[in-house]
Amino acid sequence: MLQLSTPSLRDAILRHLTYSFGKDPEHAILEDWRMALSYAVRDRIVDAWFKATEKTYETGAKRVYYLSMEFLIGRLLEDGIVNLELVEEAKAALSEFDKDYHEVLSDEPDAALGNGGLGRLAACFLESLSTVGCPAHGYGIRYEHGLFRQSFVDGRQVEQPETWLGQRHAWEFERPEVRYRIGFGGHVDMRGETVRWYPGEEVEAEAFDTPVVGFRGRWANTLRLWSGRAIHPFDLDAFNHGDYARAAAPEALARTISRVLYPDDTTEQGKELRLKQEYFLTAAALRDILRRFNNQFGDLRKLPDKVAIQLNDTHPAIAGPELVRILHDERGLPFEDAMEIARGTLSYTNHTLMPEALESWGEDLFGRLLPRHLQLVDQIDNAHATQNPSRTQSMRADHQVKMGQLSFVMAHHVNGVSALHTDLMKTTVFSELHRLHPDRIVNETNGVTPRRWLLACNPALAGLITDSIGDGWIDDLEQLQKLEPFIEDSGWIDRYWNVKKSNKIELSNWMGQTYGLHTDPEMLFDIQIKRMHEYKRQHLNIIEAIAHWQEIRENPDAGWTPRLKLFAGKAAPGYFFAKDIIRLINDAAVVINNDPVTNKYLKIAFLPNYNVSLAERLVPAADLSEQISTAGKEASGTGNMKFALNGAPTVGTLDGANVEIRDHVGPENFFLFGMTAEEVMERRTVENHARRAIDADPRLASALKLIREGRFSPSEPDRYAGVVDNLEGPDFFLVCSDFTDYWRAQREVDTAFADRTGWARMAALNTARSGWFSSDRTIRGYMADIWKAQSLLP
Ligand SMILES: *Cc1c(COP(=O)(O)O)cnc(C)c1O
Repeated sequence: MLQLSTPSLRDAILRHLTYSFGKDPEHAILEDWRMALSYAVRDRIVDAWFKATEKTYETGAKRVYYLSMEFLIGRLLEDGIVNLELVEEAKAALSEFDKDYHEVLSDEPDAALGNGGLGRLAACFLESLSTVGCPAHGYGIRYEHGLFRQSFVDGRQVEQPETWLGQRHAWEFERPEVRYRIGFGGHVDMRGETVRWYPGEEVEAEAFDTPVVGFRGRWANTLRLWSGRAIHPFDLDAFNHGDYARAAAPEALARTISRVLYPDDTTEQGKELRLKQEYFLTAAALRDILRRFNNQFGDLRKLPDKVAIQLNDTHPAIAGPELVRILHDERGLPFEDAMEIARGTLSYTNHTLMPEALESWGEDLFGRLLPRHLQLVDQIDNAHATQNPSRTQSMRADHQVKMGQLSFVMAHHVNGVSALHTDLMKTTVFSELHRLHPDRIVNETNGVTPRRWLLACNPALAGLITDSIGDGWIDDLEQLQKLEPFIEDSGWIDRYWNVKKSNKIELSNWMGQTYGLHTDPEMLFDIQIKRMHEYKRQHLNIIEAIAHWQEIRENPDAGWTPRLKLFAGKAAPGYFFAKDIIRLINDAAVVINNDPVTNKYLKIAFLPNYNVSLAERLVPAADLSEQISTAGKEASGTGNMKFALNGAPTVGTLDGANVEIRDHVGPENFFLFGMTAEEVMERRTVENHARRAIDADPRLASALKLIREGRFSPSEPDRYAGVVDNLEGPDFFLVCSDFTDYWRAQREVDTAFADRTGWARMAALNTARSGWFSSDRTIRGYMADIWKAQSLLP
């Protein structure tokens, strides 16, 4: 292989500034510096990338393919610098040119190609796959517009399109030679044994590759994103006749496929364009995977030995019928063999048990877009029914195609994302399929990459840890346990506390500069950041804050623990209830923050436009992590892990991975409240459960009364009537029933925080005992239990 000598980072920056961007240092703008540094770092990533590819071919190793409609990757420059251990060199090089490292890094736009947890998980997995040296590709869609940008007008959420490609993007390589035609519609031609699908419409998928480098640059994998293009981009005939709109129409039509990310992650809307996107991603990925496999191995019967395809949720579930179609219709294998090979290759991760989020497609729409696939779904379903005569549920009920059932039947393993969620899968949505295939469901509890979520975002804490136990923890996070003996030492605990304090001061200053928000870093920083959803219960949090405000007003001198409550999160544009909660929090913040009696003790702020970069600022400065979903609803959560790792104890329910976090950090270092998943199911059957809870708790009753009376919306007193009606009525997510215990847990937090040393020890124990929540551990679990793939690191 060609080996070029590596220039110093400084020389590489100057060379790219000059020859890649045509600027000299005097005339370069911030973006030029950011691009030049990015290219200098990227060059080194490419070296690691080529070596990894070469090794994968050489060894003939099994490859992993992670198919996901979302990759919430955020910024990549710092990731590359940190993983290549170039932080000091980059800082020094930039300062030679009088440029500030952090200013250059924050010029990069966030790549927000995902909604929340599911997309961020995919991004953490890519990084861990590279760190552990597993040969892998991520496949996704190169959305022109990622998740919308959020701002507030009079406290209300306003959405604007996100334009991450509006500024120059350093990380992708366009691959014009890698293009596939993807068809839709048309008809199926059946002639005896041979069946052929003739699509009525075709678009082209073009590949864009982003290298993803692992820790210390030992390995790099590829994220390959597909972009839609027209096959015949321009209608010259129409143009020549002066019809310019019609001339450009084919291009516009094809581009809509990869134009926008659907901004709703919890309700399934059954939109035609969404199904097109799902097939577009899946079909392009499968063509690419089979081309690579054919070049290297050939014999399709060996596919399951050399290829593992993971479906991130049901979004790419069409992979089952599509693979069967290719193997059977196009390559001539018998249907049963095609099924066997497809199932040996595919596995599926379930992310939700909520019925409104489980994908299903009306058969009319499905059959119109994918006529051959609808036939194959029926054939798959019939074959499954024949093999399992006791089966009662079909994947083809009510004129629908049920994607969860299809995914389950077409996968050799199906996994949940936390222990509790996996258990609930077995007893609820997949109970029958679990009875028929008892070995298929496995658990792989989620994790987060410690490179981004500790080493990069919290350098002060990372430094203290490395000073204390060496740097082995960075890619072996369970070594954090070695911190435990230090926690006894009061000098060390002071250092730990000072790290947290300096992070809080930094966040305070930033919020002051950015939002004109004045906060006191001595307060308890209580943070809830995540998508807005009723099941995540941001309304429980704000109602408790309102009740607490009342309590302080009644008795201002009772020695309250000062608290800053921070919220951030986006609501899906059509989710009106969630948008009301955002507005309520903003409205309540105005009133409460301006109350001179209480504002030493309680302050509230909702920061706009939650994304990965904002999370990276907030997590290191948190004292308390709010994980308060209705038990049984949050599949895992990963925000909860970021906070625990960075030394913020949790106030939370027994939901998702909270259960395992509490097991690891110890119940005495976790503020538990609320009903269990089982109790939740029972409580729902109690008549008037909300009314009963309100009648039993005067604090809750008076907080709801204030909201109803318009105390926070004097210009429009009934603004929140709908919200209060819901809480006093159906209250499906049991805000009222869990309120009293949540209140109790929060007062325990107040008391515990007043003991600074005790609190610092609790925080440090959260860090020391969170090593298990590394996504390296999760990925090793998938490799061993599901993919049967090996690391290629020496
Ligand atoms: C980690 C993360 C999430 C997931 O948070 P949860 O609290 O687990 O829902 C969502 N969005 C962003 C930007 C994140 O970084």
